[in-house]
Amino acid sequence: MKQLSLGKTGPYVELLQSVLKKYGYYDGNIDGIFGNMTKRAVTEFQEQAGLYPDGIVGKRTWGVLTPLINGYFIHTVSSGDTFYDLAKRYSADLRLILSANPQKDPENLKIGEEVIIPIQGGIVPTDVSYSYPIMNININSLFVRFPFLRRENVGKSVLRNDIPAIIFGEGKRKVMYNASHHANEWITSVVLMKYLEDICTAYVLGEDIFGIPAREIYENTSIYFIPMVNPDGVNLVTGELSDISGAYQYARKITPATLPFPSSWAANIRGVDLNSNYPAKWEEARKTKFSLGYTSPGPVEYVGTSPLSEPESRAMAEYSNKNNFALTLSYHTQGEVIFYIFDDFDPPMADEYAEVFSSVSGYILSEPSPLSAYAGYKDWFIQSFNRPGFTVECGIGQNPIPISQFDEIYRDNLGILTLAAAGE
Ligand SMILES: [Zn+2]
Repeated sequence: MKQLSLGKTGPYVELLQSVLKKYGYYDGNIDGIFGNMTKRAVTEFQEQAGLYPDGIVGKRTWGVLTPLINGYFIHTVSSGDTFYDLAKRYSADLRLILSANPQKDPENLKIGEEVIIPIQGGIVPTDVSYSYPIMNININSLFVRFPFLRRENVGKSVLRNDIPAIIFGEGKRKVMYNASHHANEWITSVVLMKYLEDICTAYVLGEDIFGIPAREIYENTSIYFIPMVNPDGVNLVTGELSDISGAYQYARKITPATLPFPSSWAANIRGVDLNSNYPAKWEEARKTKFSLGYTSPGPVEYVGTSPLSEPESRAMAEYSNKNNFALTLSYHTQGEVIFYIFDDFDPPMADEYAEVFSSVSGYILSEPSPLSAYAGYKDWFIQSFNRPGFTVECGIGQNPIPISQFDEIYRDNLGILTLAAAGE
């Protein structure tokens, strides 16, 4: 991790502030600006941890913070250690420890071997600008704590970032949830990541999620999470992408002076709206958007030179083609609206799901508006497979929706995410 000190800014500073806040060292705003309050918090943390208290987060301080960020310690077994004792010593849950160490024999821990000790408190922060690297830190932690998860690669972005899929469950019925087609809607990535963490935890503890046993979902369904379709765009909007990089400079150049930069940016990093780039009446979408003046790459609404011209949309289409998903949810912001209609298609069960999703979330069902009626992922999914596909527009306000809306958005969507997986 990068060294952080007074004057630094960006998502890593937010992550630092978030973890210091969680453990009671910091009570200022999570603003991504390393100011005097952050420095004081770091110094206090260093004193408590027996580190040299210089207020600079370098290698050693990151080293002590890392388990708190990851949500687990790596413990080296010494003579007489048992999981039961370790659970008590670290105030950890024994079931979570057992699940994180499936290869270890709890009756016979070997001296010197390393075991994973999940700690209390969550992994996924719900109070920071959720950049692609922070998501990857969380994904790695989830894999360590929940080794039953599987990972696949959907493809690569324009800037060659991997687009990961994480799979929960071993059931025959496959559903797919995606988020952040649009860069400034990155809060939707947090929704999926938090849900993934929560359903994994419920699974290990043998608990229900939204009234349904997580183990039942695990056995019957495989949930494919694609939490960040547009990693480059998200990095631009969250402040992760360096402002001296060519990609950043290009994006700024093609953003009209009337739009705030980079917060208005929804497209992929070369200015194509990924959710207008699928071959589902793409020509219609092109006509509409061109008539509105979106005729070239920009922060919003440009459909691209041809359907699937972009690596991200192409990867999503190929991945969907090979997976036979029964249903898909595409997460966007904003409006508290669910879209589920494309053209004259009427996939079996689509209306029933839509009604249920609307009633458990309080979101209204809506016909697509002419501006966004075509060429989206859900349109293409419905057209290709004649199965239910949904666009869920979370939150209310202007994008990017402030992360302070997270808890409400999550509450509203817990039912949709669970019932889409549980099936009929
Ligand atoms: Zn969107």
